[in-house]
Amino acid sequence: NMPLSEVDPDVAAAITDELRRQQSTLEMIASENFAPVGVLQAQGSVMTNKYAEGYPGRRYYGGCEYVDVTEQLAIDRAKALFGADHANVQPHSGAQANIAVYFALLEPGDTILGLDLAHGGHLTHGMRINYSGKMFNVAAYHVGPDGLVDMDEVARLAHEYRPKLIIAGWSAYPRQLDFAAFRQVADETGALLMVDMAHFAGLVAAGLHPSPVPYADVVTTTTHKTLCGPRGGLILCREEYAKKINSAVFPGTQGGPLEHVIAAKAVALKIAASEEFAERQARTIEGAKILADRLLREDAAKAGIKVLTGGTDVHLVLVDLVDSEITGRDAEDRLHDIGITVNRNAVPNDPRPPMVTSGLRIGTPALATRGFGADDFAEVADIIALALQPSFDSAALSARVRTLADKHPLYPSL
Ligand code: PLP
Repeated sequence: NMPLSEVDPDVAAAITDELRRQQSTLEMIASENFAPVGVLQAQGSVMTNKYAEGYPGRRYYGGCEYVDVTEQLAIDRAKALFGADHANVQPHSGAQANIAVYFALLEPGDTILGLDLAHGGHLTHGMRINYSGKMFNVAAYHVGPDGLVDMDEVARLAHEYRPKLIIAGWSAYPRQLDFAAFRQVADETGALLMVDMAHFAGLVAAGLHPSPVPYADVVTTTTHKTLCGPRGGLILCREEYAKKINSAVFPGTQGGPLEHVIAAKAVALKIAASEEFAERQARTIEGAKILADRLLREDAAKAGIKVLTGGTDVHLVLVDLVDSEITGRDAEDRLHDIGITVNRNAVPNDPRPPMVTSGLRIGTPALATRGFGADDFAEVADIIALALQPSFDSAALSARVRTLADKHPLYPSL
């Protein structure tokens, strides 16, 4: 029972270094967040030791009385937060949640219709070498020249290919999807509708984004992005699919649930129902809008910087660098060097190769969690706009980043 620093100083040192990195840089990867200390504590708890195959009250192992408490809390809180009939909180990740849904509702060889990866979709929505692309026949819809999902194309492809499942959801898209329109296409063509709200679940929880729950047969999400919980997945569905979904998660695609992570999901879902959480999600969206507005200004436009769809309604901004001399990779490196972490991202019809790209995906959830307000977001937006100019003062911008990081201490108790 030696402490980590003694049993494994190498791992302990790397964890400390990672904490320092998170504290001293500005995290703007749109899919990341800072889990509250209570979530970290639940996840780092003795519940990691427990086998609990099955579901609360119906386990294949003894000694499950306390993990039953936490798993039932997570289920009840997920249902209440999103107004869903049924919740399964066991998926180990977002990808696992999606595979379980496909396993529940589809047969190998069935057709699915999802947003193309290169246009903002996720790997699990039908990418060629993902299980979703290997097991199923895939049709893909796209965004149009205005950057918005082309619902006419969705309807046309659904009528042509008659998919068994239509997937609405995205990993890189700055606007809200029209769930009612997706429902209508699904009804017209006899398809089921799944919404993958992994990115925007926190906004939905806060009432700042339309909920897909009334429209979709099944909704999946991760718990670690805007929702700000531990890494993991979650499935919500109508009562009629509850049994099929549960059996597709266990024993269909997973074994023992990660009860320590499920306890942490319960904590995160409690916090997500709070006023403070809703206020933070509002700051998240406000910050993204401030960033988009700054990158739409004349000096940025002159440097060939564009903002896809001309703005954002969510927690991220997609920057289009097709006309800039700076590539997505250059931009990611430049921002990394001054202490801002983002990821490069292909833009639709990107002329540059996938490892280089012509875009950036920049998100505000982690900084909002850190306490950033409108003025701080205006400052970070200005820093980013200046860093993407052909020439820039790296030392001066690094100093400005450090000032912001110092103003909003992260995990002071750790
Ligand atoms: N679905 C969407 C829309 C995502 O953006 C992601 C992750 O980026 C996932 C699913 C997969 O989540 P995980 O990385 O937990 O498997």
